[in-house]
Amino acid sequence: MMGQAQLPAVAVESVAGGLGAGRLGFTAVVEELARACASTALVFVSHVVALKAVEIAAGEEIKASLLPLLMRMEKLGAFAVHEPDSGCNHAALTTRAHREGEIYLLNGSKIFITSAGEADLYLVMARTGGGQGTQGLTALLVSKDAPGLSFDRIEDKMGLRGTSSRTIHFSDCQVPAANLLGVEDQGMQVMAGSIAGWGIFGAAAMALGIAREATEAALRHARERVIAGTPIGAQQAVQSLISNMVLGSEAAAALLAKCAAKADATPSSALVEAFKAKLFATETALEVTDQAIQVLGGHGYCRDYVVERLYRDARGLTLHFKTSELLRQDIAKAALGF
Ligand SMILES: Cc1cc2nc3c(=O)[nH]c(=O)nc-3n(C[C@H](O)[C@H](O)[C@H](O)COP(=O)(O)OP(=O)(O)OC[C@H]3O[C@@H](n4cnc5c(N)ncnc54)[C@H](O)[C@@H]3O)c2cc1C
Repeated sequence: MMGQAQLPAVAVESVAGGLGAGRLGFTAVVEELARACASTALVFVSHVVALKAVEIAAGEEIKASLLPLLMRMEKLGAFAVHEPDSGCNHAALTTRAHREGEIYLLNGSKIFITSAGEADLYLVMARTGGGQGTQGLTALLVSKDAPGLSFDRIEDKMGLRGTSSRTIHFSDCQVPAANLLGVEDQGMQVMAGSIAGWGIFGAAAMALGIAREATEAALRHARERVIAGTPIGAQQAVQSLISNMVLGSEAAAALLAKCAAKADATPSSALVEAFKAKLFATETALEVTDQAIQVLGGHGYCRDYVVERLYRDARGLTLHFKTSELLRQDIAKAALGF
């Protein structure tokens, strides 16, 4: 359905055949998807990350052949950065790519990769140069059927369970040199233009969709649940929870819209704007879904009701893309000018 509607085109510039709706349009779509199903929204956001990498950094031939397929989701994309020993620190990535003639040989492992095993194409970050830290990282587009690529079992996650998360292993995995994205050793630029500049906004929008849905569920329940002749929504203590949820969701929506608009107008500001929007929206979603469970009482703790799923889904978003701790550090450094 997402492919038939060409939803990914919302994130693609009009000169490249997309709708050119910017981060504002993209986040509006993601928010609506997440209201219905955050797992679906995460598959979509991960796909758009790979698509943006192709749009901004693939060679002309690959771009011309792949972009239309990616916009129609006839090929599913994903991204693979995270490694067992790197944690959330990209400077510690150790997966290596070594060029031999017209191929790169890729060796290493990536963990917790959304859509791994289902996706056709992976944006993979690997170390090519001798550079330390984030220097010398290169972005490659790796096909699911590349020789030397294998997948582990699906992780048994707490939430976002509609997505498959797997470890990917590369063992002398052969990647055509033409699948280089951008410039060798300058993969951080590709990451900035795809994962950070779009994916992190997507995570913020997913969190907002979750918070809004949880708020709606709590409002419905507070009106309908009658105890001793009185709806629980008439109780001040419940009203206090509801007001926190309504305000939290509205504040997250306003900040996300402001940050997305600023990033669209001034792309050089996209990273820090994405960090702000994601930190606030994901932490808000966690608080709001927790409060929604409180409003629903024991019902909210049971799987028959949506709020327990929303809570579990929100929990994953404070970890994925960039953890809240690292977001706080980067936002503070930007404010301090460090
Ligand atoms: C649902 C889900 C989907 C995911 N999908 C993908 C995907 O598609 N592709 C992909 O590449 N990755 C994916 N990931 C991985 C995700 O990006 C990482 O889980 C995340 O970066 C955190 O890394 P970690 O789990 O290794 O935690 P660690 O790096 O081990 O961190 C553990 C804790 O220590 C804190 N910490 C670590 N270092 C510091 C520091 N220097 N300063 C302060 N605090 C620190 C962290 O904030 C965190 O609280 C996914 C994760 C989840 C949960």
